[in-house]
Amino acid sequence: MRFSEICQHKDVTISFELFPPKTAEGEVKLFERTIPELLKLEPAFLTCTYGAGGSTREKTLDIVSRIVKEVHYEAASHLTCVGASRADLVGYLEQARSNGIDNLVALRGDAPQGDDTFRPHPDGFKYAVELVAFLKQLGGFDIMVAGYPEGHPECPDKHLDWQRCAAKVEAGADAIITQLFYDLNDFYAFEDYLVNKLGVRVPIMPGILPILNLEQIQRFCSICGARLPEQLIQRLASYGDDKQASRKYGVELATEMSAELLRHGVPGIHFYTLNRSDSTTEIIHNLGLLTNKSAS
Ligand SMILES: Cc1cc2nc3c(=O)[nH]c(=O)nc-3n(C[C@H](O)[C@H](O)[C@H](O)COP(=O)(O)OP(=O)(O)OC[C@H]3O[C@@H](n4cnc5c(N)ncnc54)[C@H](O)[C@@H]3O)c2cc1C
Repeated sequence: MRFSEICQHKDVTISFELFPPKTAEGEVKLFERTIPELLKLEPAFLTCTYGAGGSTREKTLDIVSRIVKEVHYEAASHLTCVGASRADLVGYLEQARSNGIDNLVALRGDAPQGDDTFRPHPDGFKYAVELVAFLKQLGGFDIMVAGYPEGHPECPDKHLDWQRCAAKVEAGADAIITQLFYDLNDFYAFEDYLVNKLGVRVPIMPGILPILNLEQIQRFCSICGARLPEQLIQRLASYGDDKQASRKYGVELATEMSAELLRHGVPGIHFYTLNRSDSTTEIIHNLGLLTNKSAS
């Protein structure tokens, strides 16, 4: 089922992001433990990332196809332009379509490790907006794209980056999922600019990453360029090596942020689960979002 149809049946569209495990054991755990636990939380759909440089291309397709065909649940494949010609992309899309995948998260992607700038394939795309237009022309998929409440790190002006985000919607994107952020005002400013200044009318879904510990979140933020407020750093530092206490605080913070965003009226929330179900389960229970209250 396409994203736009799924949304019509949901008051709040909750989605969970997974990544392709590196090992066969990791994949068994994903399908035998993590996904069944996450599905008890009644998400609208799952998504699976697409590794840098297309490194997990086959794995991503395999995981999303298994979720759709074996688990019988909606799942979107992330797809990037990195190292891909148009013919490579068409090959991927044909397989995705024949495996029943209806939804994509269309991205430019980042330069492979060791490269500092993104270099498009000579017969590929330089920006996600071009990929979106290409996908729209091919048809057959609903398309989600990335948005950056603090502006994309490569763009010197966040308003310019937000205009480029709106251009992806203009090109055919059906929804925006945001990068992680820890200051709600960044999200509100982004949303306000897109909706009220640029007239964007598709759902804008905040992306929430439940923090595990200071080291982990500092690493993520340095990779994706998101800002970690000083107060948050100090709070996490105060837990020292107590990983349980840090994770518990991560759950509390994600619950508070999500509750506030829902009160504000967001149409849904995308959780970066990191292939774990514990924190996400606690957050969804805290938010009281389950229709089947007996689910545990
Ligand atoms: C929800 C989400 C999921 C993600 N999933 C993955 C994944 O699975 N795999 C992965 O490798 N990465 C993933 N990423 C990371 C993403 O690939 C990087 O952030 C990447 O640097 C930008 O991708 P984009 O699609 O936002 O690019 P774009 O929208 O193309 O933007 C990239 C940069 O180009 C600029 N730009 C856009 N259009 C123009 C133009 N016409 N002229 C000049 N400049 C322009 C933008 O301002 C921005 O600075 C994800 C990010 C998010 C938020």
